[in-house]
Amino acid sequence: MFRISQFMHELARAEATGMYPPPLRRGTPNASAPGPVVIWNLIRRCNLTCKHCYAFSADHDYPDELSKDEVFGVMEDLKAFRVPVLILSGGEPLMRPDIFEIAERAKAMKFYVGLSTNGTLIDEPLARRIHETGFDYVGISLDGIGATHDKFRRLQGAFDRSLAAVRHLQKLGTKVGLRFTMTELNAHDLPNLLELMQVEGVDKFYFSHLNYAGRGNIHRGKDARHVATRQALDLLYSTAWADAQAGGHHEYVTGNNDADGVYLLQWVEQHLPRWKDSVRERLIAWGGNSSGVNVANIDNVGEVHPDTMWWHHGLGNVKARPFSEIWMDTSDPLMAGLKAKPRRVSGRCSACRHFAICGGNTRVRAQQVTGNAWAEDPGCYLTDEEIGFEGGHNRVETTAFSSRRRVIELVPFGDD
Ligand code: SF4
Repeated sequence: MFRISQFMHELARAEATGMYPPPLRRGTPNASAPGPVVIWNLIRRCNLTCKHCYAFSADHDYPDELSKDEVFGVMEDLKAFRVPVLILSGGEPLMRPDIFEIAERAKAMKFYVGLSTNGTLIDEPLARRIHETGFDYVGISLDGIGATHDKFRRLQGAFDRSLAAVRHLQKLGTKVGLRFTMTELNAHDLPNLLELMQVEGVDKFYFSHLNYAGRGNIHRGKDARHVATRQALDLLYSTAWADAQAGGHHEYVTGNNDADGVYLLQWVEQHLPRWKDSVRERLIAWGGNSSGVNVANIDNVGEVHPDTMWWHHGLGNVKARPFSEIWMDTSDPLMAGLKAKPRRVSGRCSACRHFAICGGNTRVRAQQVTGNAWAEDPGCYLTDEEIGFEGGHNRVETTAFSSRRRVIELVPFGDD
């Protein structure tokens, strides 16, 4: 996750005081470092059948899901492993009958507990229950305004129900965030959603890049998706900057494309050039992609994955082995590669002058397009000129996989 507003607030302070805060070093895994943030898909069942659901969740029970006692046992291990944050997700997590018992236990164990939901089930009484349980944060997905959202969610009235959920929770004082995954079909709604956020007084906006693997043989500067991505980020950065300058406390974050850090640096070079070196240092401390290091996923049957996009790659099951052991086991080549510092990636990422900021971005995109998890990220929207690459190509590596020129659109199942 890339925290735009954190950088903007620091810049606003720097402008006011003439001093930029020193970078906080992201810790390398060691005995005293915290464990990863765990996104936990507790249930696969969902009341919706969204167009972009990666795992084709449906409204029926799925076999072999973790029992409540098994969940509690895993939580003990996660706590001992110093996991700070649990994001409870699905499917639709509110369809799990014991969701509140799990959340209450998690709160009592002093986890920061988030809930990732489509929001359509949250009426006033359920909002109260969520509030009283003490969830630290509730993320509600909106794919656009009104009919756009309904179309994505394949449910007429879904937008109204999700917005009502936002209002119920806001009224009670629960922290709420809107989660928006941008595609070609809803990019036009981003300005309206940002306005909605302001009007409704919503605390947080999470812009998720579609985990788009790209097409082969493209010119990055002209590719429509890349252009739309850059326009969206321009809007997010200017909105977050205006909020920070006005002393606001809205949070703007992005996910699924670590080139956003590099793009922020370019924004700073253009708008606030005197802070570019300080921001660069801080971006390097952030370090880019952290799948398999600072972010983890446990799926509904207990299989552990490097993140929610790696559902096709299991690392081990918490029913058979503690998460803490699975997570530190680098006998799996993927985990060894993800935990390597620096990661060994090839292509334009290996020659990129911003590699220390971005970390080579999203490995699952490279793997899905080329068959090689360590190839360059085809979802990078920066031009060769911007990354200082003189290889003379703007092409995604062509292999048996990428020559199919397929566009993969991976969205983690549920609403993480
Ligand atoms: S070329 Fe690779 S390392 Fe450089 S910004 Fe793009 S994705 Fe990140």
